[in-house]
Amino acid sequence: MDLSSLRSQFPTLAQSNDGYSLCYLDTAATSQKPQCVIDAMNQYYHLDNANVHRAAHQLSARATSQYEAVRDKLQLFVNAERREEIIFTHGTTESINMVANGLTAHIKAGTVILIDSAAHHANIVPWQELAKRTGAIIKPIPLTADCRLDVSAFDALLSQKPAIVALSHVSNALGTLNPVNELVAKAKQAGAITLVDGAQAIAHLTVDVQAIGCDFYVFSGHKMYGPTGVGTLYGRFEVLDTLSPLMTGGEMIKSVSFEHTEFNILPNRLEAGTPPIAEVIGLGAAIDFINGLPRSELHAAEQALLIYLQHELTALGDVVLYGAHTDNIGAVAFNLADEHHQDVGILLDQQGIAVRCGHHCAMPLMQTLGLKGCCRASIGVYTNKADIDNFINAMKSVKNLLL
Ligand code: PLP
Repeated sequence: MDLSSLRSQFPTLAQSNDGYSLCYLDTAATSQKPQCVIDAMNQYYHLDNANVHRAAHQLSARATSQYEAVRDKLQLFVNAERREEIIFTHGTTESINMVANGLTAHIKAGTVILIDSAAHHANIVPWQELAKRTGAIIKPIPLTADCRLDVSAFDALLSQKPAIVALSHVSNALGTLNPVNELVAKAKQAGAITLVDGAQAIAHLTVDVQAIGCDFYVFSGHKMYGPTGVGTLYGRFEVLDTLSPLMTGGEMIKSVSFEHTEFNILPNRLEAGTPPIAEVIGLGAAIDFINGLPRSELHAAEQALLIYLQHELTALGDVVLYGAHTDNIGAVAFNLADEHHQDVGILLDQQGIAVRCGHHCAMPLMQTLGLKGCCRASIGVYTNKADIDNFINAMKSVKNLLL
């Protein structure tokens, strides 16, 4: 397969702004969408628009079978044991909130919850709220000087018998990769419930939840070439089945009277209300798109491009890279000398380059690094060497202007 032809499947990328063709290096925030995803959602609204599960009519039957087929696709995509282990949510944030809320009854005062210190706020704040409700204690797993999770510190923390261990698969701010199989195995041995935030991994790595061995694995559709407004909560059946629902109402019940409500079985018990049907169907098209790619060839190409990006940025001089390793996934975090990251971002934008600037929803990590924020360039299947070269040329002119 000619990987360079992939780009033409993404209509957004074929635009110019102020005379500069778009150089999109913000895939970690949200990926662009291939035409097949846009078409699948359009087709649902043009031909099949109906609510799922409830009606006797054909439109609803078509919508339901398309919606439920995506659950099967996701089961295969992450290698879940059962289709009921796949819950549709609105995104990673909702998935983590569902777990943190649903585990409330399991957590006793004084028990420890371990959190990856490079985590996104979505994998911090819901646990803090759980701790407030239960009296549990949050403990961050420290990082080494080169921004990897400190495995010996993690081992030491496990002796405190944490109830929950919440990890990132890949850090959204830095792109660092955690050895989740090893970390989850240790956490399980210590008796913890484990959650892995796969928001930044799912588009780049082949994820096998059974091989990882985690209880929960969560991700968003929009980071994997699918639409916004849809995400996934994978839960190992035995643990998922014990979660109390975050939301109650229609769809999630078996029977309701004013005296008593009986909840439905999984997966419906955790999918209250009308789900994001078009978005789930779009996510199904995104999975088909990814499954149609030569994944190991693509992974090798993405790694080569990322290493090229790290190398070229370093070669510019006066650029500081944070936590840059050759096994990082998808993103490079940097600052230009002492210049404000926002200034750099705005000057890049004026040359058609889209990067992310700020704290990247990882304020505790920024504090650890002694930063207010930084810039992040991130890549996807459509990124090519010319994008990196354009970016580096633009950085040269930003450097000339500011330094
Ligand atoms: N976790 C990580 C690692 C992320 O990168 C993000 C989004 O950037 C999230 C969680 C939150 O995802 P969403 O906003 O789609 O719920």
